[in-house]
Amino acid sequence: MSKKVVVIGGGIAGIQASLDLADMGYEVHLVERSPSIGGRMAQLDKTFPTNDCSLCILSPKMIMCAGHENVKLHVYSEVVGISGEFPKLKVTIKEKARFVNISKCTGCGDCVAKCPVKVPNEFEEKLSKRRAIYLPFPQAVPRKVTIDAEHCTMIKSGKCGICKKVCQAGAIEYDQKDSTVVLDASAVVVATGFDLADVTVLSQYGLGICKDVVTSLQLERILSASGPTGGHLVRASDGKEPRKLGFVQCVGSRDEKMYKYCSSVCCMYATKESILVREHVPDINSTIFYMDMRATGKGFQEFVQRAEKNYGVRYIRSRPAKVQPANDGSGVLVTYETRGLAGEQVTEEFDMLVLCPALVPSSGAPDLAKLLRIELDDDRFLRTPSLRHPVDSSMKGILICGFAGAPMDIPDSVAQASGVAARVAELLEGGA
Ligand SMILES: Cc1cc2nc3c(=O)[nH]c(=O)nc-3n(C[C@H](O)[C@H](O)[C@H](O)COP(=O)(O)OP(=O)(O)OC[C@H]3O[C@@H](n4cnc5c(N)ncnc54)[C@H](O)[C@@H]3O)c2cc1C
Ligand code: SF4
Ligand code: SF4
Repeated sequence: MSKKVVVIGGGIAGIQASLDLADMGYEVHLVERSPSIGGRMAQLDKTFPTNDCSLCILSPKMIMCAGHENVKLHVYSEVVGISGEFPKLKVTIKEKARFVNISKCTGCGDCVAKCPVKVPNEFEEKLSKRRAIYLPFPQAVPRKVTIDAEHCTMIKSGKCGICKKVCQAGAIEYDQKDSTVVLDASAVVVATGFDLADVTVLSQYGLGICKDVVTSLQLERILSASGPTGGHLVRASDGKEPRKLGFVQCVGSRDEKMYKYCSSVCCMYATKESILVREHVPDINSTIFYMDMRATGKGFQEFVQRAEKNYGVRYIRSRPAKVQPANDGSGVLVTYETRGLAGEQVTEEFDMLVLCPALVPSSGAPDLAKLLRIELDDDRFLRTPSLRHPVDSSMKGILICGFAGAPMDIPDSVAQASGVAARVAELLEGGA
């Protein structure tokens, strides 16, 4: 019988680790808390430094993972208990009721079209609404709908039942209950990724105050052809295309009062986004306000130079002090200090402003760490104390990869995920 490995988190890191482990012959149980695997990469339009389509790279891996004979997906699920020691761990997984029988659901979407309840769409960073019964995004894996019990009026108060009436497959089951699975696992891989910090608390940057201030992840969704505006770059205040776009980096990052570390990917994705917007609005001009340009990866410096030379991106080394709505409510006024001998305070108008918020360990990561009996580092990422074995946590047999351990981009997350798989094999087959 093959040894079991539990992978927690179905983003690109968890998917890659699962595929490598499954190819080695381990029985992989991939636990993802949302209804689909894919993680943040599924929300991105294109990826630096090649500007390849994000889902074109991710989708085949998601499908391969779900179809692999050695991978069992536990979506809409969380690890709620663990006991024992390496290599004899007992892992308890809670599979949340999705009120849809996924072996019957064909993903046709008839129920979604008829559901009367609309709620903010998390996948679209709340720029649009979804229904109480929903497919998180068109390329979701598994391609099965879920009923959000918090908002479904049938589950809350017994009123509605429309989706059950329209579903030809008989897949709706309002009486479904949460269930648990207990596994004897040899090792656990944690790949729980990141969230964006809530930077509405930094009111000087205007998020939630100025209509035309968005986050970088919201811009990814706006640029996506399947996103809330169908890929049209428009601002919220009046639906017009912006001609002058600003980016502010390190919003909450490298800030002693918020998150003192560098979020690592923002210099590059802001550069990427400032190039991509040109494909949408050819005469747009972008300005990036930065603290230091950290273009340390292969081809990254050249990418920044290309943005400057070929796309006219203006880089200004300054941290804006204030962002306010422009006089007629559309656009934003950005106050910043110019550098150099003539350093002075300037207020400049932009049509739209994009904030690059600090990227923080995903919500629930500290609780999960406690449950798994592993340590956090000073920045609350999962600690990897060994320089010799950089994917080992503080507990033998529990390993870390991707953004859960430290801010990192997609290529590094993938490389680390493959490293984790090799390390699991080394531990389980009698290595150090
Ligand atoms: C705006 C923006 C643009 C970016 N652009 C690029 C780019 O162009 N190129 C690039 O290389 N990188 C880019 N990045 C960085 C990239 O998103 C990350 O490197 C990558 O997503 C890390 O993958 P991950 O699998 O570690 O984490 P994630 O993608 O965050 O995946 C983690 C998964 O774990 C799940 N999860 C969390 N907690 C639990 C739990 N307790 N139980 C079960 N599941 C859980 C989550 O639901 C999620 O599916 C960008 C980031 C941002 C914010
Ligand atoms: S629940 Fe039924 S109607 Fe809804 S997507 Fe699935 S098969 Fe279609
Ligand atoms: S029963 Fe719930 S999910 Fe189904 S259509 Fe009504 S509100 Fe929507």
